[in-house]
Amino acid sequence: MEVYAPVERYGHSTVQVGDYLYMWGGNQPDLPEVHNNEEKKSMCSVVEVCHVPTGEWVQKPTTGDPAPLGVRGYAAAVIRNEIFFFGGYCGHKGCFHNSLYSFNVDTFNWKELSPTTSHHGPMMKSGSSMIAIKVKDEDYLAVIGGCGSSNNNPPQPGAQYSEDSNGYQRCNEIHTYRLKTDEWTSPTVTGDRPPPINYFTLTSITNTTAILFGGYFGDERWSNDAYVFEFTDTSVRCTEFPNPGGSVPWPKERSGHSSVLINCSSGPHLLVVGGFAGIRCTDDCWLLNINKMEWKELTNIPDSVTDRDSHSLSVWNETQTTHWIIEFGGERDYSSISDTRFIEISEYMYTLND
Ligand SMILES: [Zn+2]
Repeated sequence: MEVYAPVERYGHSTVQVGDYLYMWGGNQPDLPEVHNNEEKKSMCSVVEVCHVPTGEWVQKPTTGDPAPLGVRGYAAAVIRNEIFFFGGYCGHKGCFHNSLYSFNVDTFNWKELSPTTSHHGPMMKSGSSMIAIKVKDEDYLAVIGGCGSSNNNPPQPGAQYSEDSNGYQRCNEIHTYRLKTDEWTSPTVTGDRPPPINYFTLTSITNTTAILFGGYFGDERWSNDAYVFEFTDTSVRCTEFPNPGGSVPWPKERSGHSSVLINCSSGPHLLVVGGFAGIRCTDDCWLLNINKMEWKELTNIPDSVTDRDSHSLSVWNETQTTHWIIEFGGERDYSSISDTRFIEISEYMYTLND
């Protein structure tokens, strides 16, 4: 029997809910480079579902509103049984989105919460990141950074916008979306706000904190700084953790890498896999003890896993001490990849450091 596998892609996300991963969109070989047509609509109306314990993928149709048009480099986050999708690159020159959609994993139903508009909300962009936050028992989404074309939305007060030599505009906007009222708001930002950046990772640590790592500043400049964000319902405080230099182990600059949070007995850890830093992939894997801000390179992960960028990464906790990392797709040497990799990360890999 032929085993089904989703088509190769990059610039997608894979979101875990329970024992399943849900993967939508991404840059696929036959995806038409147009705003919208029947073929694009049809390719975007399916979601790939992986049952993690068996590793089996199936493709499922969706219902409700037509799926988002920002199919590449969108941002995704999950709250209970709903996956939220923000923004993304449309696939044809200069067309970016700032729409927000929800996708319900029980009904497979899409809902457009906020359309692409030049009137309000974050700028139309790709390569931003989104996390879910919960403050005083209320759910919010937070969207940070990203890059779009320069003729975009009204600027957010306090945010910076920088145009690169290709005419693309990067930002360090920080918006929150209050789900109860369906409104974009601008929190008060204090501390070390990161510069305009895209294709970094933003990973939740707790209900109100998250960590940003890496990213692209434009014009062949990459970051290896980390930032921790602490949210309240109206504010966010940013703390920068730059590379201290010297002999302290610290990953090199990159963008298009993937990160997941691994919670273990010695506290939260951030796992960073691969990424791009000019000409080729970084081909490495690093683990950060977040409480100590100490990095350790994991050298026993195969090249086939680490040598890629713009891939997706999810974590599935089999037990308290055994975590499975699931990687799909991405790019290597400018060609896209279709394989799913399951990597077991066990406690000994990170306790060595503590
Ligand atoms: Zn378009």
